[in-house]
Amino acid sequence: MKKRPHDKRDPYRLRTRLIHGHFKSERWDFDHHIIPPISASTAYRLGSVHRGAQGFVEFASEEAEMSGHVPIYIYDRLDEPTRGLLEENLAYAEGGETAVCFASGMAAISAALGVTLKAGDEVIAHHTLYGCTYSLLTSWLPRFGIQVTFADLRDQASFLQAMTDRTRVVYFETPVNPTLELIDIAELRRWIDEVQAARPSGNRLVMIVDNTFATPYCQRPLALGADLVVESLTKNIGGFGTDMGGVVVGPHQYHGPLLMFRKDFGGVLSPKNAWPILVYGLPTLATRMVNQQKTALRVAQFLERHPKVARVAYPGLESFPQYELARRQMVSTDGKFAPGSMIYFVMKGDEQQANRAAERFIDYIADHAYCITLAVSLGQIRTLIEEPYSMTHSALPDEVKRERGLEPGGIRLSIGLEDWHDLIDDLRDAFEHV
Ligand SMILES: *Cc1c(COP(=O)(O)O)cnc(C)c1O
Repeated sequence: MKKRPHDKRDPYRLRTRLIHGHFKSERWDFDHHIIPPISASTAYRLGSVHRGAQGFVEFASEEAEMSGHVPIYIYDRLDEPTRGLLEENLAYAEGGETAVCFASGMAAISAALGVTLKAGDEVIAHHTLYGCTYSLLTSWLPRFGIQVTFADLRDQASFLQAMTDRTRVVYFETPVNPTLELIDIAELRRWIDEVQAARPSGNRLVMIVDNTFATPYCQRPLALGADLVVESLTKNIGGFGTDMGGVVVGPHQYHGPLLMFRKDFGGVLSPKNAWPILVYGLPTLATRMVNQQKTALRVAQFLERHPKVARVAYPGLESFPQYELARRQMVSTDGKFAPGSMIYFVMKGDEQQANRAAERFIDYIADHAYCITLAVSLGQIRTLIEEPYSMTHSALPDEVKRERGLEPGGIRLSIGLEDWHDLIDDLRDAFEHV
């Protein structure tokens, strides 16, 4: 069997590996390039009917994936080399056996759910989720006969109460977008295994983790017991805010089904979008995260001390309610604490006052701040601010948001690479004007 990119014998560290990549690939011969070229060919010359037929036989087959020989490329939507290189490098970063890329994070999440669920199955999801994921689970999956139950996945009793013999998938983000609650992945694995062992049907339970907030630099869910990892490449992995993308990473058994799903549902990542993520995004991920994290801690400490702020959630703060879990779960591959670049905070006052203050604060920043931008999305080199209640999480019903600690007036900050003094100056100035 060919040496896999995540091979444990490999002595180089993640930061170095992300820069030099797995560029010597079976997928494409470009020995004399330092930078992998962009392929731009929707269809491929096949040479003979026999070779064309063989390509269709081998597509999405496990034997072909494991064989190590150059794939027979047929058509972009099936498989193509630039995206294939990105997939090898993402699998390596997450410590998974295989990765399949999609046109966006949502296309990747749809595929992960699509290959693990069928009509009659049920999903248990953590009660707070990115707005579009919530809307996918509650407005689309039920149309295909799949029901979702929400639970607090930090609490075993809540998890068990939601469990039925039809449950097939347990789905969550950690840290949760936007509240930054953490789910203990290894602990939840133990709860799932207990349920699994006692199941009369033997139906397999699949744990899917959205690792978008943490990125593989800060956290590798597969090593902690997740079955599949999904990620938006649009955020910190792409890192520069130029291209959308998504990925599903997991064991070999999902490789074929994910390729087939992508082929037939069509949410394929274009090689022109895969290329900047491969060449600029992944190689700078470690460096960006290290620097964004340092700034995030300084900004979180500034916010925590500010008299107009009621509450700050950042996993790197000692006051963070799950600080001990953060230190255990959010670590780089060198074992360093890696609490990420996202901050959530709430202004002081009753709900109405806090809400008004937040709106004035964000509007002031939109008008006056030089280095903080009002925009959705996250994980860019530029610091972004938004109000999740009315923007990224508007798909969640009001009472659901309130119950789940997502209050009107809550503010999400995605820390970029600016000098931290400048960020704090812009924030201080805005506080003076609310
Ligand atoms: C943005 C985001 C997604 C969706 O990704 P897209 O690339 O925008 O489709 C999914 N999960 C989380 C946690 C996100 O922040």
